[in-house]
Amino acid sequence: MIKVQMNECMKAVAITGERRVEILSMRIPRPKPNEVLINIRACALCTWEQRVFKGEKKTPLPLIGGHEIAGQIVALGEDVDPQQFPVGAAVAPRIIKACQSCSFCRRGNPTQCIQLNTFHLNGPDVYGMGGFAEYICLESSAVWCFNRSLPFEEMALTEPLACVLHSIYQAKPLFGDDAVVIGGGIMGQLHLMCLNKMGVRTILSEPDKKRRDFALSRGCKYLIDPSSEDAVEAVKKITGGRGAQAVFNTTAIASVGEEGMRMLENTGRYVAFSSIHPDLPISLNPNWLHSSEVVLTGAVNPSIQSFEQAVNLLDKGWLDLKDLITDTYPVDKAQQAFERAIAGDAYRVVITF
Ligand SMILES: [Zn+2]
Ligand SMILES: [Zn+2]
Repeated sequence: MIKVQMNECMKAVAITGERRVEILSMRIPRPKPNEVLINIRACALCTWEQRVFKGEKKTPLPLIGGHEIAGQIVALGEDVDPQQFPVGAAVAPRIIKACQSCSFCRRGNPTQCIQLNTFHLNGPDVYGMGGFAEYICLESSAVWCFNRSLPFEEMALTEPLACVLHSIYQAKPLFGDDAVVIGGGIMGQLHLMCLNKMGVRTILSEPDKKRRDFALSRGCKYLIDPSSEDAVEAVKKITGGRGAQAVFNTTAIASVGEEGMRMLENTGRYVAFSSIHPDLPISLNPNWLHSSEVVLTGAVNPSIQSFEQAVNLLDKGWLDLKDLITDTYPVDKAQQAFERAIAGDAYRVVITF
């Protein structure tokens, strides 16, 4: 167990400019009542932070990002049950806020909580979710304990897995349905892995052969190369002319999303999983929407339920995510970690503390 002194400092990785990160020294936060102090052991680099690093997404700087976190409990605030949150336990937190009192939380839709944007977790002076730091304090309700010993790098993928499980929940596929996943990056691969387990026949549309091969080796049933064939026609062919019951767009390209909608069978569900950059309009035939009864929706953030499911899947050893970790860098090599993450061919790059 690590003893944390009141005045001790910690390392934090901050984006301080375009393609520049620095290691800052910050005061270790103290847990308030109902909070848990976590020693972060691994934090994965999400696309959002990569876009800030590249200068594509403007935020206040310095930014201490990081929300795909795994670590260990080191101290408890007042009123936290030490049986439920034992010091030393390995944990993954759902870092975004669920206030439990807004109408979205009360209706069971915490991904839309009005207090969602918790960008000042490290105090009022620093912007960012704060996962790229050695310590973080979070309310105990946001913390999930693991029973199985799993490398922290893999445990850090709980959050992206939970985002994907929420996306699949939005599409509500049934046994034997056909689902198209557009894009074979980490989020696409996570969709495929989960859908395969659920008894859904999976189709991946992805131009990169290496990513198609990876999906195939993990149980994906059909592969489409949209750079050499018409992806909509290919889906129709695979599905006997009907189209798929579920389509997930994990790419950031507006026209690809529009094409994905045309892959749907009547009454099918389309999930806009990724945000779109640039945010270009798409065209939609209103009579098609009327007569096909398709459902067009999105998936943003993990729900509380999907986080619970992600922890269960990993803790029970039901999903093995280690091959999705392309590289791991110690905190002092954070600059290299960011550069590796944006190189284009990585699934996930993880910073360890
Ligand atoms: Zn993320
Ligand atoms: Zn709320």
